[in-house]
Amino acid sequence: MADNCIFCKIARGEIPATVVADAPTCMAFRDLNPEAPVHVLVIPKAHVPSLNEVASPALFADLMQMAREVAKQEGIAASGYRVVWNTNADGGQTVFHLHAHVLGGRQMAWPPG
Ligand code: AMP
Repeated sequence: MADNCIFCKIARGEIPATVVADAPTCMAFRDLNPEAPVHVLVIPKAHVPSLNEVASPALFADLMQMAREVAKQEGIAASGYRVVWNTNADGGQTVFHLHAHVLGGRQMAWPPG
């Protein structure tokens, strides 16, 4: 856990979030500034800065499984959705605690900006 990390604080329950899924290793909550009708973030509870530092294939599987479950739970599995891992500066990452964006409920554009 990192003391000043906003997502660690959410994982510890120190700041509020609208949690939609919870498991021993990871959790999911609604993005504060949604870019789509469904916009949920899936995070590991332990601090991992970005996709580059994921050491455990099991953790990665847990995160992807939760992303898929969230899509089903939110009713966008059949209509379609996007899972995005913004990574470091060129990837547009602004919060350096690993998170997958699960976005859906509208037609996504390609290529992304
Ligand atoms: P990224 O730019 O990929 O690092 O995404 C960070 C995301 O975290 C953005 O979509 C923000 O809207 C979101 N975010 C930042 N702070 C919070 C918060 N306290 N609760 C929920 N989402 C947040």
